[in-house]
Amino acid sequence: MSEHEAIRKLLALAAAEALEEGELRRVEEHLRECSSCAAEWDAWRALARGMRGLPTPQAPALLVERTRVQMHARLAAGRDRRLNAWLMGFLVLFSWTLVLGTWPVVRMVSTGALSWLDLSFQRTWTGLAGYTLMGWVVGGVAALIIGLRHATARRAA
Ligand SMILES: [Zn+2]
Repeated sequence: MSEHEAIRKLLALAAAEALEEGELRRVEEHLRECSSCAAEWDAWRALARGMRGLPTPQAPALLVERTRVQMHARLAAGRDRRLNAWLMGFLVLFSWTLVLGTWPVVRMVSTGALSWLDLSFQRTWTGLAGYTLMGWVVGGVAALIIGLRHATARRAA
């Protein structure tokens, strides 16, 4: 491809002011020496000037309104997600606090019961393990429900 052809391809971009500094200099240098490219350049420039003079098209009101409604829905969905994450964190923290807080109580009661009723500590420990496991299961179910709700909401959106 000759320099002449290459410049011809760049003229439209130059008229749209879309060329980089180096390319623009190359075009300008060629235009000074080549009259046929200069003539074409004038045509492109006139076209570009005419295009800029055209009134800017306005988006239809209905489209603007629909976009606005969709944006609000997206924002609301984001808020919902943040709330779910917060709720999830709270549930986990709550179950852990419950488990850790229960331990001293169970210890105290079991120690008391040991001296009073002579129950084995082993059984109490098994009970606490079961209780802890139940807490985890409840937390897991809660996470699953939130996850499912999440997926449904996403599909609906
Ligand atoms: Zn030329």
